[in-house]
Amino acid sequence: MNLAILGATGSIGASTLDVAARHPERYRVFALAANASAAPLLELCRRHRPSYAVLSGLSDNAGLRREFAACGTELLFGAAALETVARHPETDAVMAAVVGAAGLASTLAAVQAGKRVLLANKEALVMAGPLVMRAARDSGAQLLPVDSEHNAVFQCFGDKRFVRKIVLTASGGPFRASAPDTLKSVTPEEACAHPNWNMGRKISVDSATMMNKGLEVIEARWLFDLAPERIEVLIHPQSIVHALVEYADGSVIAQLSNPDMRVPIANALAHPERVESGAQSLDLSSSKNLTFEKPDLSRFPCLGFAYAALRAGGTAPVVLNAANEVAVEAFLAGRLAFTGIAGVIADALAAVAPASADTLEDVMAADARGRREAATRILALAA
Ligand code: MG
Repeated sequence: MNLAILGATGSIGASTLDVAARHPERYRVFALAANASAAPLLELCRRHRPSYAVLSGLSDNAGLRREFAACGTELLFGAAALETVARHPETDAVMAAVVGAAGLASTLAAVQAGKRVLLANKEALVMAGPLVMRAARDSGAQLLPVDSEHNAVFQCFGDKRFVRKIVLTASGGPFRASAPDTLKSVTPEEACAHPNWNMGRKISVDSATMMNKGLEVIEARWLFDLAPERIEVLIHPQSIVHALVEYADGSVIAQLSNPDMRVPIANALAHPERVESGAQSLDLSSSKNLTFEKPDLSRFPCLGFAYAALRAGGTAPVVLNAANEVAVEAFLAGRLAFTGIAGVIADALAAVAPASADTLEDVMAADARGRREAATRILALAA
């Protein structure tokens, strides 16, 4: 199977390459894409010898092209090149692991081309769930969730007629038990120090605010075609149980594993077969208690905003995501307090009336509008 890995230099990319390299007879690295990390991407190309590499955030550079050519790799530049490798006739499976709204176009391209799409980029479904799911139905693309909770639901999901509800678990992030008045002075380093998962900075901050879980509720709504009231969130600080599916007869089926992204990645790569992922075997006898609690929406307002945006529908989830991306970037750059993130998102949602999101143009316009509103609020707060 020829793999195109979009977001190759990130943590999902590293885990995907690790799993693929364990099974060279099954998987060939066909294309690797990064935003602007030329040196790390070149290093990966030396090791994996893909046919194509993409630097989506850079414009043409002959010197770089020559360096990659020495690995037998043709280097492409610009955002459109992500779509080129996603659609390429020799690409069998696309790992969609570009972070944020920037991943929407290439994910949609892979879906439209009928590829096996390993979906790590949740924003494609948050922003354009109905569009992406319709495109998958039309093209016959296989959408396999890589987000650990959604992959867990996927593994536990039987006949939908009998599903009562699904439960996504959340670690609660590093501030689950912090006194609310201490959160104002949280630094990016503290917010990115996740207790269980080793992830990129954006998703680590999203995990600390629980916006990540909010985005995942929206993602689950489209992936599994369930109304919002049938998608619940439980805080489970140990991150061993990733999701649960409850059926009409009261049976609950859960998926458990150590918190290691190679587990859902291997599952999505090999489905319906199973391959060794490199993850440690789960030893329940040595693990501490597994605990579960309801999230406190006054501590985690972003989770409530996500449910509200999902219920409002149309462009509301697009604005939610756009404002969050801008706010998190400002927080990471030291321009916004951690506790300011939620307010910026609430203000942007209030400022933009939900409209229909039936086309990619509608979605992109709402994304731009949400970003402008959020940027304006952040400037006003700094003044
Ligand atoms: Mg997740």
